Parts: sequence; C-alpha cells; structure tokens
Amino acid sequence: MNILVINAGSSSLKYQLLNPETQEVLAKGLCERIGIDGKFTYKAPGKQTIDAVDVAMPTHSEAIKAVLDALVDPQNGVIASMKEIDAVGHRVVHGSETFACSVKIDERVMAALEECIPLAPLHNPANITGIKACEAVMGKDVPQVAVFDTAFHQTMPPVAYTYALPYEYYTEDKVRRYGFHGTSHKYVSQRAAALLGKPAASLKLISCHLGNGSSITAIDGGKSVDTSMGFTPLAGLPMGTRAGDLDAGILEYLMNKHNMDINEMLNVLNKKSGVLGISGVSSDFRDLEAAAKEGNTRAQLAIDVFEYNVRKLIGAYAAAMGGVDAIIFTAGVGENSPAMRLRMTAGLEFMGVKVDPEKNNCRGKEIDVSADGATVRTLVIPTNEELMIALDTAELAK
Ligand code: AMP
Repeated sequence: MNILVINAGSSSLKYQLLNPETQEVLAKGLCERIGIDGKFTYKAPGKQTIDAVDVAMPTHSEAIKAVLDALVDPQNGVIASMKEIDAVGHRVVHGSETFACSVKIDERVMAALEECIPLAPLHNPANITGIKACEAVMGKDVPQVAVFDTAFHQTMPPVAYTYALPYEYYTEDKVRRYGFHGTSHKYVSQRAAALLGKPAASLKLISCHLGNGSSITAIDGGKSVDTSMGFTPLAGLPMGTRAGDLDAGILEYLMNKHNMDINEMLNVLNKKSGVLGISGVSSDFRDLEAAAKEGNTRAQLAIDVFEYNVRKLIGAYAAAMGGVDAIIFTAGVGENSPAMRLRMTAGLEFMGVKVDPEKNNCRGKEIDVSADGATVRTLVIPTNEELMIALDTAELAK
C-alpha cells in the first residue's frame, strides 16, 4: 500500500510517498514559492535528486501535478502510475472540537473544515487548498484523509482546557486550550509503549516535542490529558521565535509605550521573541550553544530560560497525572542535543529521573537513556509525523 502524505502551507507543499506497512519512504520533497514562480525538490533513494528547480506553480494544483509527474517519471520515478497511490493523507492544523480523530474526507468534512478556519486563519485555508488540489488532479476516487494537529488533545478534561475567562467565550466563541503537535505526541507515545514493552493504557508519559516550535504533553493511559500549547501554538514554552506563556497585561503596556497595534504586537510575540528575542543571536539552539561557549551571556540566559521552563512543566505534568513512568524527548532539540537533555533532566532525581551520560550521548535514534536505578525512564524517540499520518490514512482508506 502506498500513501501520499501532504503538508500544504500557503505557498509551500511538503510531500512524502510511503508504504505504511514496511515504513519505507519511496520519495519525498517540497514545492516552494507556489503562486510566485515555483521551485520543485524531489528525493528518492537510488534516483537522481531534483533540487529546487524552476517549475511554474501558479496554484497548488500545478504543485500536486509536479509531484505526481515526478513520482511516475519513467526514469526517475518510483511508481508506474498514479493508480499505485492508494490514498492521500493531509496534515490539517486545526480540527476544533469537531474532530477528535483522523477522518476520511467527504463534502460534509470539507464543510466542517471551512468552519474551523477562524480558529487557524493562517493554516487551515492552505490545508483545504491542498485537499482541493489533490481532488482536482487525482480525481474523486482516490480516498483522502485529514489528520489533525489538535485531534490527539481532544481527550483533555475540561479542567485542563478551560481558561479562566467569562464562560461564554468558550461556549459561544470556542476559546479553550486545543493544543498542537498532536500527531507527533501520539506517535512518540505509541513508540514509547513499544520500547517499554507495556500497553499504552498502563503508562503515564510526558512527551517533550522540542524543536523550533515546542510543546509538552501529559499522556495518561494513551490519552492526552494536558498540553502546553493553547488556543494557538503561541502558548506554553518559550520557543525559537515565539514567546510562549506571558502575562497578558504586558501587551497593553508595550502597545501603549511603543505605539504598536495588535498586528505589530503579534509579530513581536510570534517572530521576534522566544530564545531569539532573549539572546539577540539566533532562534537555533546550535547557534546559541556556540555563542554561549564563547561567553555570550544572553545566549546562555536564553538556553537557561528554555531548559528551566521544560523542567518546570515536566514537574507540573507529573503532579497533574499523580506520577510519571517515562519522559520522552523528541524533535530537533529533543532528538539531537545530549547536553540539553542532560541539563533539562538535572534536578529531577528526586522524582526518580536519572540519565546515563554515556547512553545519552547519541543523536536521532530510539533509545532508553535512563541510568541504573532510575524509576522514571528517560527516552529519546525520533518523531515521524508523516508515518503517523500514513498509518491513520491507510487505516481509514481500507
Ligand atoms: P525541528 O523544528 O524539530 O526541525 O527542530 C529544529 C531545531 O532543532 C533547530 O532550530 C535547532 O535549534 C534544533 N537542533 C537541531 N539539531 C540540534 C543539535 N545538534 N543541537 C541542538 N539543537 C539542535
């Protein structure tokens, strides 16, 4: 079975063709500058790489067409015809309270997706465009499935998702914690259960997705019970460029003082804050580590603030669940920075967390890095959102 996984942005489209049964990635790549000029990238094992070549892409339909043309190309392709694509899985950012799991797309689902647009005005329209483009190019007979970033978190109880605002803002305006990165948290929690050899239903897990965007999720019995991102992905941990949680009173103070309107303020909070804002150096933790080593105190402070907040949330979620069996590190930082993993877990020995520095000295592989005597396991699990999307899609397309 071959599943085409699509992650459509407003001017870009990432794709991957994979076999969910063997987990083999047949080909992957990226369409960029859609609606501008169009650049196409294609990579497949044993085939010639196409790297950002010019392909006219006035709309997402031409982008999908370029993807299909490359996949079935007689010399450089990986399938003989489009018929070998059994289904298409789409990453959709926001499913509101309507979608608590992945869903096969039909007209009713499309209408519901349109209704979710006000909750994710930058992302959902692009996802919908990607779905429509696939249908236009591939026809109605190829099943399409929507996999939501928010769906995994729909199991959160009201106590975790309710903001202390007038209740009507929830009932009438849908303002509540939704949480994001759900596909990643779900995938790594399932892998953690496999790695520990225990059923997910018996485990309390804390999943730390730490990358350019970061979030932490408390997973009890296989279900998300709390997560750090909120109504939008701006909440929770300080991130590469996003502020994370802050006192809402700061907004009024800064907007008045610097004569900013709400869009300018949001631009600061989304693009100029986080570890970039604190350090003034970079949003990339590798640059920060290098600058801190050379004595840059603001870069060091940015790292310290990030790590402190991760540690604090791990403690909070252990308290929320009344215990924890394993802490999972995933995504760019979580998978690749042994030094940060060591520091983020330092001080958690009181709750049974103990990392073995030697086992921990690894990157990008699935491993239990706990030291002897640890009663809470520490796991490194590379995330694979595309595989999770393909698995859900295959299941629903059957
Ligand atoms: P992601 O959003 O999951 O792709 O993660 C991207 C981020 O991971 C980058 O911005 C880096 O800050 C971080 N990262 C990747 N590799 C390393 C590394 N070896 N050490 C520290 N941070 C890393």
